[in-house]
Amino acid sequence: SCRNVLITGCSSGIGLALAVHLARDELRRFRVVATMRDLGRRGELETRAGTALGHTLEIRQLDVDCEESVRRCVEAIPQQRVDVLVSNAGRGLVGPLELQSVEAARRLLDTNVLGLLRLVRQVLPDMKRRRSGHVVVMSSVLGLQGLLFNDLYCASKFAVEGFCESLALQALKFGVHISLIEPGPVATEFERKLYEEAATLDLSGLDPETRELFQGFYLPYSREVFAALAQSPAEVAEHTARVITSESPPFRSQTNSLYAPLATLKHADTSGHLPLAAFQRLIFQHDRLFKASLSLLKLLQWRKRRDMDHTKTP
Ligand code: NAD
Repeated sequence: SCRNVLITGCSSGIGLALAVHLARDELRRFRVVATMRDLGRRGELETRAGTALGHTLEIRQLDVDCEESVRRCVEAIPQQRVDVLVSNAGRGLVGPLELQSVEAARRLLDTNVLGLLRLVRQVLPDMKRRRSGHVVVMSSVLGLQGLLFNDLYCASKFAVEGFCESLALQALKFGVHISLIEPGPVATEFERKLYEEAATLDLSGLDPETRELFQGFYLPYSREVFAALAQSPAEVAEHTARVITSESPPFRSQTNSLYAPLATLKHADTSGHLPLAAFQRLIFQHDRLFKASLSLLKLLQWRKRRDMDHTKTP
């Protein structure tokens, strides 16, 4: 049977990759409603979807900041039937807290947190009635672990995690699945937008120590982490497709195994001292040793992937 999948934020990055991946499924298990805020940016998706366009994939307008837009989009789907909702649209925000306006924080939370709420409110009642459905949410490892100069972004992803943990308990009763996907760094426009926004911050009013920590340390550190560890959107899309097609979908899953120890530490030491100290060291021992261990981890990851490819059954 063919499942209707509604995905938000499909003009770029993970959303685009997932829409294409599902629409081109060889078994034709999905009808993808790929949505975006601005239909003017549909060009790349149209090109990449190729012959799937108009068959297993259609493009619709949806702005998660606007309840009316969410409602209109879902109501246009035959029987309003959404079997799988992928809440993917999101924005980032980095920088010293002192420089961020409450208005910017509000916009961030509006999209990342209330956007999810608007979507779920629109599709959950039908899923409950049908006693089936799957809500897949693009969270982040930063929904599990804080990171300096990402205070508000982490707050938004932690909120998403708490929302889903709570909802999952109710959803279970109705046979509805909830799945959080927690990627590490992914090579998308997300990173470029962050640096562009960071470049507009006026650092002159900051105390010199914070300014140095942000400009001299954090920004280069962040670029390096992305350069060394970022997955491709296609990898995250593949992972997400496995979650969607799973017989019993995991409630949470990370796409990058390098980050698993952080989550483990957090649960192992509830005082929070150990995980904080470990993460602090990981970040601030930003020297040759750190770079060497990043390359080693990269190599291990590559070998693991290669081994997995070899063991795959055709
Ligand atoms: P991206 O910037 O390429 O994609 C985000 C998409 O969301 C864009 O197409 C954007 O236009 C859209 N969007 C933003 N506000 C919207 C709104 N109000 N309504 C509809 N669409 C809106 O970046 P991405 O990396 O593909 O991000 C997708 C998701 O993955 C986000 O939720 C992000 O937080 C999460 N994530 C990204 C990374 C990363 O390193 N790139 C890591 C972990 C999690």
